[in-house]
Amino acid sequence: MDTEFAVNPEGLHKAIDLMGHHFDKPEVLNLPVQLPELGMGSDAVLNALAPGILGGAARLGEASSFAHMDPPTPWISWAMTLWNASLNQNLLHPATAPVARQMEQQVLAWLAPFFGMNGGHMTPGSTVANLTALWSARDCAGVTQVIASDGAHLSIAKAAHILGLSYLSVPIDAHGAMDQTLLPDDLSKSALVLTAGSTSTGAIDPFVLAGRAAWTHVDAAWAGPLRLSKHAHLLGGIESADSVAISAHKWLFQPKESALVLFRDTEKAHAALSFGGAYLATPNIGVLGSHGATATALLATLLAWGREGVAQRIEHCMGLAHSLRNFIATDERLELYAEPQTGIVVWRPKNENAFDYVTQRLPVGSTSTTSILGKRWFRNVAANPSADINALIASIDRALAEPV
Ligand SMILES: *Cc1c(COP(=O)(O)O)cnc(C)c1O
Repeated sequence: MDTEFAVNPEGLHKAIDLMGHHFDKPEVLNLPVQLPELGMGSDAVLNALAPGILGGAARLGEASSFAHMDPPTPWISWAMTLWNASLNQNLLHPATAPVARQMEQQVLAWLAPFFGMNGGHMTPGSTVANLTALWSARDCAGVTQVIASDGAHLSIAKAAHILGLSYLSVPIDAHGAMDQTLLPDDLSKSALVLTAGSTSTGAIDPFVLAGRAAWTHVDAAWAGPLRLSKHAHLLGGIESADSVAISAHKWLFQPKESALVLFRDTEKAHAALSFGGAYLATPNIGVLGSHGATATALLATLLAWGREGVAQRIEHCMGLAHSLRNFIATDERLELYAEPQTGIVVWRPKNENAFDYVTQRLPVGSTSTTSILGKRWFRNVAANPSADINALIASIDRALAEPV
């Protein structure tokens, strides 16, 4: 047997040891311009790439990390990802991946009921989950139009474009949610997309609208996991949707690429999304062809933490966002965009001229920026349970000091 394909404890231990190593600054990777004729060997590759790959990446679990929707991931998910990479199962083929298929079914059976859905499948992200859901809306409900708010994720317009559906964007209200007074009366040919936690502001669209259109899809990429927490009521009404998208690589702390598309009537939706093929023992459902055992990392995390462990981490994140909100709302130099609903705090200095120097002074990875109706705002996202919110508040305070 070619030993490159065998378990190499020494090499793998070394890879793990390097993960704990501190690399000062990413070294410029000195990579060959052309594909090398001769390989350097796997062991040498670890040393060659560690400073760049491990040293060059933002550490999402660091105390200052509070800028984006990308969370740190638990070590159990790394272990499962390693197993997955070594086994390379393909969920297309039940014969080679019987247990992996069962694991995906199990994860769906555990999570779907929190959303009033009865099943679905995993996708590499909510971009694909949204496309898949709108594909079933088109073929199950005969919709010709997609309606979403100006605050919706770009993947909704992208999906409408791919599917040949027209796209109507409804303005947002002062809190970033869909302004329902501007919605057309006739929704009988429409897929209505409601966002649960918009990417920019974390706003939740009015869920009273769920069920009013020929198809209702909830894009819960970010805030969906709140359903497992004491904040579940914030997404009340989601069970009236026909489909839901959730990115597990956001608030379920999973390595990319892990997401779910859920359906209220999975049998019907999957029938519309199924294609058979001579070499396939079961039909191919959804957008993907070959599909890996991503579910094992999610299942392992859920098994390790339980609902309670997931909830506790998300609730802690919500608390961090609330502390930041309290600082912003009571500091007279600052303006809060709106009350944060789903762990996203959007704010800016009242003095517009301060925006640039505050941007430069804030620690890298602590804060992102967003543009709403042509205005610039700072944005903090509570995806990191280990964030030090007092340190962040102190750094915002320092950044606001007038330059001398
Ligand atoms: C992140 C996000 C998406 C896209 O999800 P990916 O997992 O990045 O493909 C869609 N909608 C919303 C609201 C998001 O925040």
